[in-house]
Amino acid sequence: MQDQDILQKIAQVLATSNVKKSNKLINYQTINELEKTLNLNKQGSQCWDEIFAWVGKYLEYSPNTSHPNFANRMWSGANQPSIVGEVVSALSNTSNCTFESAPVATLMEKYMIEQMLDIVGFKNGEGQMTTGSSNANMIAMMVARNQALTEAKKQGLFNQKPLFAFVNKDAHYSLDKAANILGIGTDHLIKIATCEDGSINTILLDKKIKKIKQQGGVVFFVCATLGTTVRGAYDNIEALTALKNKHNFWLHGDGAWGGAVIMSLKLKNKFLAGIEYLDSFTMDFHKMLGSNLMCNFLLLNHQYLLSCTCADGDGSYIFRDNGVDLGVSSLQCGRRVDSLKWFLDWKFYTKQGFSDRIENYHQLAKFAEDFINASVDLEMVLKRTSFNVCFRFKTNHPNKNNFNQCLRDSLYQEQHALLSLAYVEKKLVFRLLISNINMNKMKLIGLFNRLIKTGKALNNV
Ligand SMILES: *Cc1c(COP(=O)(O)O)cnc(C)c1O
Repeated sequence: MQDQDILQKIAQVLATSNVKKSNKLINYQTINELEKTLNLNKQGSQCWDEIFAWVGKYLEYSPNTSHPNFANRMWSGANQPSIVGEVVSALSNTSNCTFESAPVATLMEKYMIEQMLDIVGFKNGEGQMTTGSSNANMIAMMVARNQALTEAKKQGLFNQKPLFAFVNKDAHYSLDKAANILGIGTDHLIKIATCEDGSINTILLDKKIKKIKQQGGVVFFVCATLGTTVRGAYDNIEALTALKNKHNFWLHGDGAWGGAVIMSLKLKNKFLAGIEYLDSFTMDFHKMLGSNLMCNFLLLNHQYLLSCTCADGDGSYIFRDNGVDLGVSSLQCGRRVDSLKWFLDWKFYTKQGFSDRIENYHQLAKFAEDFINASVDLEMVLKRTSFNVCFRFKTNHPNKNNFNQCLRDSLYQEQHALLSLAYVEKKLVFRLLISNINMNKMKLIGLFNRLIKTGKALNNV
């Protein structure tokens, strides 16, 4: 088949897909039912009709993530220019590791990294696209490790002083994974209690750092979480910078979720004051800003450290120009072309468009909080500090966690909404994150009213 025919066939399947056609959230099946329906074991037969039948089944039983009631993850749907980019990336299948194999993608990635360095305010910086913030957090920690122990790259961590890293107790679990992978050890990732607003307590942090230093430990890395995953709290960059100047560690900013506020001057000043003093910063363009998964970048407020940390091997067969080939400073060999979709989104929406989007999400989060506070059936479990709205259904039920879990499952099984749950100090809460470009006040009210209706019915059982 020609590429054109493939695209046409996909268009046909999409046009007949029930979930897409009727804008349904999901065609819910239990795992056992779904295994039966799919019959994955069916013999293959080099038949195109069967291929598109599989595609049809895939679409039929996958959630429609652009539905406004898909509020399960930190993203929903995808920007349409980035979808165009993804389709073209797939059709032109190449690896963005050398200029020769991906000349346009290489230049687009460099261009976009320069744009982000400028917005964040890293004057002499560098950066790369990675496979996500989990990976970017690890690379940042790896650069910091090799700066603290200059022999670590060659000699490993044998017979070295013990390293310690510090994070907000609500930091993302990818930091634990990074400590594990990099040989730091998860016990050496020290979690610091938070202030009332969920941001890292910098007084406690200072005390803990002093203690570790007295015991002979090397304090090499602190990660500021800029929008914690559950509460949406922002660590105070200026207070952390003061500690960095005192104790001389690498200060990284994990803005996977909340870093998107860099697009709005107003919200950047509110949440990210001092961001230009960080040593490194990462953000997911696929979360609030809506690019197709995965779309992430890591920036360093330094130069040449990415290649000197990440480059290995003699490169005899692959790299010809270390200044141009992006693969040199990546931990991967093959690199998906993620820059095309990113670039297309950037040209379509522009910084102003993304700024408007973020400010709108921020206002909708406030609207949601006001709605909950005014409702007799719902309660905020935490005061909102940014985008995350953590609430639950009020019930006399003896086990409130169990009740809210059942409520969430009912909404899902009845195909009304797929919401996300999280624990806040042992309380199970709905974590509402608005990241759908089509969300508005009316749809939000619709979602709450459905939740309340289902909750009342459950309460009366
Ligand atoms: C989502 C998230 C991550 C992980 O990002 P991936 O791109 O999914 O790997 C890391 N940190 C925070 C704060 C996040 O919200």
